[in-house]
Amino acid sequence: MTASPSEPYDLVVVGAGSAGLAGAVTAAELGLSVALLDSTTQSGGQFYRHPAPALGAVRPEALHHDWSAFSDLRRRLAASTVTHLTGHHVWSVVRESGESGAAAGETGETWAVHAITGADGTEEQPVRITARALLLATGAYERQLPFPGWTLPGVVGAGGAQAMLKSGLVLPGRRIVVAGSGPLLLAVASSLAAAGARVPAVVEAAGYLRYARSPRALVTNPAKAAEALVHGAALLRHRVRVLPGSAVTEVHGTDRVEAVTVSRLDGDWTPVPGTGRRIACDALAVGHGLVPQIELATAVGCATRALPDGTLGLALDDLQETSVAGLWAAGETGGVGGAELARTEGELAGRAIAARLRGRRADPDPGRGVGPGRVGELRRRRDRMRAFADVMSAAHAPGPGWPAWLEDETDVCRCEEVTAGRVREAVTELGARDARTVKLLTRAGMGWCQGRMCGTAVACLAARGGTPEPPAERRPFAVPVPLATLAALDERATEQNL
Ligand SMILES: Cc1cc2nc3c(=O)[nH]c(=O)nc-3n(C[C@H](O)[C@H](O)[C@H](O)COP(=O)(O)OP(=O)(O)OC[C@H]3O[C@@H](n4cnc5c(N)ncnc54)[C@H](O)[C@@H]3O)c2cc1C
Repeated sequence: MTASPSEPYDLVVVGAGSAGLAGAVTAAELGLSVALLDSTTQSGGQFYRHPAPALGAVRPEALHHDWSAFSDLRRRLAASTVTHLTGHHVWSVVRESGESGAAAGETGETWAVHAITGADGTEEQPVRITARALLLATGAYERQLPFPGWTLPGVVGAGGAQAMLKSGLVLPGRRIVVAGSGPLLLAVASSLAAAGARVPAVVEAAGYLRYARSPRALVTNPAKAAEALVHGAALLRHRVRVLPGSAVTEVHGTDRVEAVTVSRLDGDWTPVPGTGRRIACDALAVGHGLVPQIELATAVGCATRALPDGTLGLALDDLQETSVAGLWAAGETGGVGGAELARTEGELAGRAIAARLRGRRADPDPGRGVGPGRVGELRRRRDRMRAFADVMSAAHAPGPGWPAWLEDETDVCRCEEVTAGRVREAVTELGARDARTVKLLTRAGMGWCQGRMCGTAVACLAARGGTPEPPAERRPFAVPVPLATLAALDERATEQNL
């Protein structure tokens, strides 16, 4: 079913990764008119990134496991009535009253979704799309903790290295150290090694034994253990050493990476003196976990929950609805848990939204716990995988000692070139106690990335060894919007209900 230009869609889905695709095709198959928007030119999100057709990859599936799940979603998308709008960067969502009378959702309101178009937003065509319900499936971005040398050419994000390989079929170097924390490192290292890079080491700051503290989550998620074994076997085959309880504490090189220093860490992630040793390499792929990308939701007041690794995810009810009625979320926006969990939540949200708009209950018998049928099955699966995601998040939470890696000259905010020394000065001499005050005093977090890169580091330094406050993730614009686009909005905005 397709909405007419004067009518809102039943549902707009933002994000065409695992969660958004599953939500969009499920809702369309249940009879809703659906628009699916994504800033990129292809569907699949981060996990199913694949080469552009022009690169002529013969086997795009070679770098993925579980490709069949994506093929299935892609086939269902092609067969559906979903309006798939690529190159649409959504910068704001606004709840409006249902003046048109067409908004028959329970809240009687519509959502206006504002986007700019183009592969990188440079076409700057403002687009406004309305819908009775909204599903946010905007995924996550990488968390970075700085260290001396992290801004040298040749240092890339761990997920960024994976993205370069999956979408561009290129490697960031020939001899690549993979470092940071989180299960993504194993996946990245095995992909890089399989693609022909020499990976001298995977340097993991946490200890994998922390998973053993939650045997129930391990036993009930055997697929996760199997995935770890597959990566472990690949790393053995390629003779990649895994160094748990260690971190890259310095990068060496003049024009680009030539080597890294790897130090042992104590339980707090403080480097143990005298343990540093150099490993030669020409690239470093580094990341310290992922941060849910939730700005669109927090800008309209959605409640958040603190996750065990110190980040914030959206607080969701049992059927994926946020604290704001009519706005649902799925996938990494509720906490990082992988592509299968994202698919499950996307389908659950799609079913819940279809039921709400049809005036029916998604779960006919909520009083009995998980309810019968497909919805009950999805909820059980979601709860099982969420429990594992929380264990994973706790196991890789940064320890309070990591700022000991920093020298006063180390850039913490790379956009505004604010050093650790200046942030420390703002805290110890000017009395800043949170990232926001540090930002006002030093400009840390005011640059192009709006604190996505340095937010965690600044919050930790401001907390002075105490528990850092998670960054508020409240930004009026989810992506950069040219001023001219905003100024011309009233006159030029096009109602694009195709
Ligand atoms: C850089 C990176 C690399 C990763 N690599 C791997 C990996 O190799 N293996 C693995 O197991 N897991 C990987 N992950 C984790 C993986 O992304 C998730 O497990 C899975 O993709 C979650 O699915 P999702 O649908 O929630 O989010 P995603 O797959 O991230 O999809 C989110 C989609 O939303 C779109 N989007 C976001 N904001 C906007 C906006 N404002 N307007 C329009 N569109 C928007 C994005 O373009 C994206 O397509 C990676 C994560 C990141 C951040």
